[in-house]
Amino acid sequence: MSVAPAPTVALQGRFARELPEMAVPWQAAEAPAPELLVLNEPLAAELGLDPAALRTDAGLRLLVGTAVPDGATPVAQAYAGHQFGGFNPRLGDGRALLLGELVDGAGRLRDLHLKGSGRTPFARGGDGLAAVGPMLREYVVSEAMHALGIPTTRSLAVVATGRPVRRETLLPGAVLARVASSHLRVGSFQYARATGDVDLLRRLTDVAIARHHPAAADADVPALALFEAVLAAQASLVARWMLVGFVHGVMNTDNTTISGETIDYGPCAFLDAFDPATVYSSIDTGGRYAYGNQPVVAEWNLARLAEALLPLIDEEQERAVELAVEALGRFRGQYSAAWSAGMRAKLGLPDGPDDEVSTALVDDLLVLLQTDHVDGTIFHRALGAAARGDVEPVRLLFLDLAGIDGWLARWRALAPDADAMDRVNPVYIPRNHLVEEALTAATDGDLAPLHRLLEAVSAPFDERPGLERYAAAAPADFGAYRTFCGT
Ligand code: AMP
Ligand code: MG
Repeated sequence: MSVAPAPTVALQGRFARELPEMAVPWQAAEAPAPELLVLNEPLAAELGLDPAALRTDAGLRLLVGTAVPDGATPVAQAYAGHQFGGFNPRLGDGRALLLGELVDGAGRLRDLHLKGSGRTPFARGGDGLAAVGPMLREYVVSEAMHALGIPTTRSLAVVATGRPVRRETLLPGAVLARVASSHLRVGSFQYARATGDVDLLRRLTDVAIARHHPAAADADVPALALFEAVLAAQASLVARWMLVGFVHGVMNTDNTTISGETIDYGPCAFLDAFDPATVYSSIDTGGRYAYGNQPVVAEWNLARLAEALLPLIDEEQERAVELAVEALGRFRGQYSAAWSAGMRAKLGLPDGPDDEVSTALVDDLLVLLQTDHVDGTIFHRALGAAARGDVEPVRLLFLDLAGIDGWLARWRALAPDADAMDRVNPVYIPRNHLVEEALTAATDGDLAPLHRLLEAVSAPFDERPGLERYAAAAPADFGAYRTFCGT
């Protein structure tokens, strides 16, 4: 056991104080035998927390929520949400707690939050718990997303609780400690709106503006400006997801943030073969949250945010709807601009407005990738080699050789920049078979595969010797990948 002093962390209780109607003070469940599985030391340092102190008994008790600093007020947050299209006015943190907010080394306010910390008044039929595997999945994938430069909640630690969790079988339980620029969601606004308390909705709006989009405070209609800022952040976020082949899996409105960070990694995964219809979640039987649907779903979720904000947009509701519809109408253009710019960068083409040549090039590429079930991540990296003159790695990925040869000739005529491509096309993503391998081993007590995977995905653009299997496609026998929600 470490002899370092217990961690000192100055946790504010801002959310609890500013929005008490949406905060239920609550305590974490006991963890019989806390054991640290993984600690994010660089993130701890960024937060001003001493990693050695987090490894002590007192540190582990903080990370599972059973010993919080004096004056801290852990709360379960109330929110509503559309789940797979159906509205639930009362969801809330059923198995999570906001420990409070802290100011990081750069002066930014960050939420410190626990997932898997026991039943709360929002637990409904759930047990309030989480298993080691899914909490480690969130840890790995969120840290990979961060390393890819994609806005996301971060993961500070996963601590096994020593308490078994009943799923299909008995599994070891764990708590994830995560950090977010806030946990405000579209569902938070839907909750406030559904209470009918316009003062609450106004305070929530003021909190969100101050925390995430401060320029909106000076606009003629701050609530409308907030909506426009969230729309811009989500358009950019989902474009980034699409460019790396990320499938969130549960894009319910309670999993759509106001900050524009990716949140709540459940049945999420990265595409292997490129196919817009890809679904990984075992509960998404209708394919609502398929890879290719994500931009449209984000727009739909933003429409729900606009509805919640209507009373603050204009006293006259018809006028409010008009303004909201006009703002929402800009989503598609913003999304497309972000996606096209990202695609140009992935192809090594200079930044600039879309022209007919590059638009046709991109459209034709997507058809070629989909037809031959090509792994997009491997393709884009191989394309860097092609830009340097070696086209064979790309050609190996295709059956339609005439098609790809013709495409490569058109593309090379545009003089792509290979070095620029290597800076935006990752070598290492958390591939599904590697994630499964790491989680299975960790559940059985072997953390080595998890740490090797984390090492690979923490520097995704930087190809290193010895990590070849982390850059390779899934073995042919890996089969159709499914992940399970609510575990
Ligand atoms: P999620 O799909 O993880 O975003 O969760 C959706 C809702 O279900 C949230 O209100 C969660 O707090 C709740 N929830 C998920 N799993 C559990 C569980 N095991 N126990 C209690 N509540 C849960
Ligand atoms: Mg959620």
